[in-house]
Amino acid sequence: MTRAGIGFDSHRLEAGRRLVLGGVEIEGAERGLAGFSDADVLTHAVIDALLGAAGLGDIGQHFPDTDARWRDADSLELLRAVVGRLADAGHAPANLDATVACEEPKLGPFRDEMRTRLAEATGLDPGAVNVKFTTGERMGFVGRGEGIAALAVATVTAAGRRSPRAP
Ligand SMILES: [Zn+2]
Repeated sequence: MTRAGIGFDSHRLEAGRRLVLGGVEIEGAERGLAGFSDADVLTHAVIDALLGAAGLGDIGQHFPDTDARWRDADSLELLRAVVGRLADAGHAPANLDATVACEEPKLGPFRDEMRTRLAEATGLDPGAVNVKFTTGERMGFVGRGEGIAALAVATVTAAGRRSPRAP
């Protein structure tokens, strides 16, 4: 059986922060995303989509921002941990599709690297990881450049359960 999940996230843009999307640092960005971890909004949406598909809650339950371990965390590491938790529950990622809503900078040149990084972290073929970009057409918080939002859909299929005490 294939199960689908959805994830949505948004973070505020602030001066003096790195801009990291899909595990890729966007060189030359004037501002980056504010947040407790590295604020990688794309990876956070992917994490929530995977957790949703597996029926395992949301990112805040797994990595609470009250826990100092996750301060400035590399979100790709969180994604790897989530894929492990899915495996423990008998699920394997099958495909990912995501849209990043960002007014600027232009993200197209970073698309392939984002797909590669997300594919590595989830154990998927890059062909099963799609990343799309759109703007806010100068409307709303995205269009005014106040922040970046990301939406993701993931599917998972049944996988062999991990058994630490296997004979
Ligand atoms: Zn987030």
